[in-house]
Amino acid sequence: MPPARPPNIALTDPELFLGGIRSPLTKPSTPITSMPGTPVNETNCEDLNAKELLMQMQILAFAEQGIGSELEQLYASFARCLDLRDKYMELSNQRLGDNPKDHDGTFHGFTPRSSGDVMGLKAEVEQDACEGPSAAENDELPTWNIYPPPPPPHWHWKPSQGSVMPEPTSSDGTEMTKTTTSTSIKDNQTFKIEDCQIHEEDKQHIFQLNDEGVFTVYSATEESPRVNGEVDSKGKKPLARIPTLKEYFTDLDYLLGVCSDGPAKSFAFRRLKYLSSKWSLYCLLNEYQELADMKAVPHRDFYNVRKVDTHIHHSASMNQKHLLRFIKSKLKRNPNEIVIHRDGKDLTLKEVFESLNLTAYDLSIDTLDMHAHQEFHRFDRFNDRYNPTGSSRLREIFLKTDNLLKGKYLAELTQELIADLEQSKYQVSEWRLSIYGRNLGEWDKLAKWVVNNKLVSHNVRWLIQVPRLYEVYKGSGLVNNFEDVVKNVFQPLFEVTKDPSSHPELHIFLQRVVGFDSVDDESKPERRLYRKFPTAKMWDTNQSPPYSYWIYYMYANMASLNAWRRSRGFNTFVLRPHCGEAGDPDHLSSAFLTAHSISHGILLRKVPALQYLFYLKQIGLAMSPLSNNALFLTYERNPFKDYFKVGLNVSLSTDDPLQFHFTASHLLEEYSCAAQIYKLTPADMCELARNSVLQSGWEMQVKKHWIGHKWYLPGAAGNDIHKTNVPTIRLAYRHSTLLEELALIRHGQHSPSATPTHLKQSSPARLPHQPSPQPPSTSNDRTTVSNRPGMTNHPSDVAAAAMSMTNSSVYAQGESHPIAPHLIGGVGTLGERSRKKSVGQLKGVSFGGEAVTPLESDQVHEARR
Ligand SMILES: [Zn+2]
Repeated sequence: MPPARPPNIALTDPELFLGGIRSPLTKPSTPITSMPGTPVNETNCEDLNAKELLMQMQILAFAEQGIGSELEQLYASFARCLDLRDKYMELSNQRLGDNPKDHDGTFHGFTPRSSGDVMGLKAEVEQDACEGPSAAENDELPTWNIYPPPPPPHWHWKPSQGSVMPEPTSSDGTEMTKTTTSTSIKDNQTFKIEDCQIHEEDKQHIFQLNDEGVFTVYSATEESPRVNGEVDSKGKKPLARIPTLKEYFTDLDYLLGVCSDGPAKSFAFRRLKYLSSKWSLYCLLNEYQELADMKAVPHRDFYNVRKVDTHIHHSASMNQKHLLRFIKSKLKRNPNEIVIHRDGKDLTLKEVFESLNLTAYDLSIDTLDMHAHQEFHRFDRFNDRYNPTGSSRLREIFLKTDNLLKGKYLAELTQELIADLEQSKYQVSEWRLSIYGRNLGEWDKLAKWVVNNKLVSHNVRWLIQVPRLYEVYKGSGLVNNFEDVVKNVFQPLFEVTKDPSSHPELHIFLQRVVGFDSVDDESKPERRLYRKFPTAKMWDTNQSPPYSYWIYYMYANMASLNAWRRSRGFNTFVLRPHCGEAGDPDHLSSAFLTAHSISHGILLRKVPALQYLFYLKQIGLAMSPLSNNALFLTYERNPFKDYFKVGLNVSLSTDDPLQFHFTASHLLEEYSCAAQIYKLTPADMCELARNSVLQSGWEMQVKKHWIGHKWYLPGAAGNDIHKTNVPTIRLAYRHSTLLEELALIRHGQHSPSATPTHLKQSSPARLPHQPSPQPPSTSNDRTTVSNRPGMTNHPSDVAAAAMSMTNSSVYAQGESHPIAPHLIGGVGTLGERSRKKSVGQLKGVSFGGEAVTPLESDQVHEARR
């Protein structure tokens, strides 16, 4: 206890408080009051060194207090941004566990649901608390059945092979063995439309377009329940609360304010620099250990870890040689097939080529001319590259799903692509198909094309891209206002959710769709909205609405749809728009609030505050440096490597192989270029591949097979090195680093490793969810970790896991630490020092030129509290 002082004696007077130490420098408005046990007076300050030290402490404390209030505001504003995103994710059911596809019979979502984020458990949440047995009882969703069933695992790890968790046996209890190879039975041979379940109509609910242009679901029976709950303008209570246009723009405004705030920008910039440097240090210290860990894993290497092409447009998913071969074979075998209707008459393929003055012999990659390597900053011309030989006729015949042939040629081409993918086994694709919003019939045509042509494969899932082409449709009179586009895109989806038998093919197709994308040239100039929120019906000008406005309507309608689909046990969707490729960096703010993950994001390099927020939330970025290189940013300037070092959740994807790639293995080509230019290590490549699976929309059952049984747990606990080939110490590093940043933002706690050793407290700051560092024996922690499925007893894994769970437990371990400290990023060394110091063993040891006695170091601790 500090000695009692009369309240009105000026505590604010440093001279009084310091008992005679005078310095013009020390003029703090509020002095240090918390120095219990160390009454300061003349007798304690006999030593001149001690006086000077004390003075410096005073300055330090003053400086911290001064900065403190400003920092606190900063932290609070960042924390609020994180909360805002959480709100939007919750309201749209985009988190892991919200989608019925995530419920595989053993995973039942997190309890409470708010502890889940879009790609797994939130980093800061206690891991064991969320998977209690109660989850199984409370699971209102049935087990999701994948049809056709995915191929069974080819190999089985037995405990003797080093894994503590053998592959789960099949549901009937029989051990699955090497009976079939995964490629022997194709999904399109198994798939029968008659075997797909078409659910009953939902007579309990109806849907209506609300005043703002968002489809809203109401109870069909309930009459105006005005008594409680939120009631919308129609006087009815909707099934789910959807943020209004005004609410969205207000939240967006707040976020933009934080991101353009000077102190926030420089703070985020410095944190990103720190994270990047810390990564370099980690690599220097652990390179050899990582390599050793990977070598210890049998069978697995970069080639046989799953790699998802997280961003690829279906109509550009073949390479040019493939397309050329296909066109030539059609010209040779079916020259007289009627393929297109032009200028009042039907034309055969032969006639089309005659009209173009071309023969099969003339055709080459050069005449096809679809490479887009000369279109830098010409997105307008890039779109023309989709036309083979510059002819829109050939594009319509070969690359469209909706043409005179009902997309027959593209379906055949797709079957060939699917066969290639299934053969490669470890490469899988999330293909984008277009819905334009020009009329209500588009969905049915597209669904029939997919389902009737049996374009199903365990290597393929679909995303729907909606091009932002309002001004084109408006110009040609297809729509009157923006609400028409919204209706054309979403009304069929609500109809099929209400009554699947109304569009049976669409119902089947949607089960294989994972989400929505928003595409177009972002660099087009756009009109900004300043505190005016015209509804979709009011938007009837010729100009397209801005990006943020499009995103709102995509998000809001999808959120409303998801709530209904989830309640019906149908799969839900996520929003994964193209964002931050070019144009206004503000687009990224809209995506931060509303999107599960994004494609591109190269403009985050210009907005450090937003980049830091993307890091804290681990939002997926599907990056395509080769595509950027051709269109918007040269390869060497691409921020991909910087993002990776900082720890952003990045994956590699191809975008448009037809325009950018040369080989049939486009995805490997993308990895290969990145590896050579950015000097990626094998561990880096495997981490990128793992990220791509995290970002993808495959079912829980499949993801478990690909990257481990508990993949949704952050850090070491979620890693199964036998499946991912990612060193566990690496994921532990990523996790503990993220935890430190979250602790800083949420609680103003500085990371222990960023604090000089002589200032470090013996019990460092920790998150409230973290286990207590007392008692010092952390053997319990270690057992829990090593008992986790997919975790080995390999010493470095265990140490890494300990590091990921709580830094403080590592600190407390001291000499009992099983690992040489240099193997875990130096944290052990620091911990050792701080432990010795705290028990007074470092008497007289010099740190940074200042002799520190135990007493004085204690004083420093107190001052920092
Ligand atoms: Zn793209």
